[in-house]
Amino acid sequence: MATSSPRVRFAPSPTGYLHVGGARTALFNYLFARNRGGKFLLRIEDTDRERSSDEMTSQILDAMEWLGLEVDEPPVHQADGLERHRTDAGKLLAAGRAWRCFASQEELAGIRAELREQGRPLRREAVPGHGDEESAARLAAGEPFALFFAIPEGSTTFDDIVHGPTTVEHAHMDDFVVLRSDGTPVYNLAVVSDDIQMGITHVLRGDDHLSNTPKQVLIYDALGADLPRFGHLPMILGSDGKRLSKRHGAASVEAFRA
Ligand code: GLU
Repeated sequence: MATSSPRVRFAPSPTGYLHVGGARTALFNYLFARNRGGKFLLRIEDTDRERSSDEMTSQILDAMEWLGLEVDEPPVHQADGLERHRTDAGKLLAAGRAWRCFASQEELAGIRAELREQGRPLRREAVPGHGDEESAARLAAGEPFALFFAIPEGSTTFDDIVHGPTTVEHAHMDDFVVLRSDGTPVYNLAVVSDDIQMGITHVLRGDDHLSNTPKQVLIYDALGADLPRFGHLPMILGSDGKRLSKRHGAASVEAFRA
């Protein structure tokens, strides 16, 4: 791993104003890059078309400029990577690391509830009509499907820069969606695909993503890509110990600036 010249990124979703907690995460990335002679990159995670807006994207860019968090390469827009996200999902399928799920949302909700009661994780075998033959027939019939990542047996360990060695038993992880039936990628796939594409060496982000990391580590492995280092930073809390939000008063960079 090229630790001598790191590439880090800040990856806000343009679904609202830049939160001061986000700005703090960006600051860690920025200072780490500056300290190590690396690159500080920005990726606008705008795959959620309904909740994202160009106005919020410009607000975020504006707030970062105001804070002096200068980026070293033009901002990347996650939505531009859609074809690559789909290609990567196809690679997971071809490698036998993902499966096609033809079940409806309601069907899946029922299966999930039942498995939860039995204390079992969601796996392909638990979904009726998902044997190889039936799947092939449903595919041939043109039925829509979502792609699910297949969690293997065992456990995943990563050495978090902040939290230290972190292990999750796979028995506690459900197979999870990587591509929805409308062909849109889910966050965990898009983020890994983009971080690989951008050559990110250190993923420094909020603690709210710690539970996503084992899933992402598994996707890196399935795609045969080098793992970056991960570092999860604490959230900024209000005086009541809850995550700082508008309820506490100012929570966005915009509000502090005003
Ligand atoms: N877009 C995500 C967020 O705003 C960040 C994803 C990441 O840093 O991996 O929470």
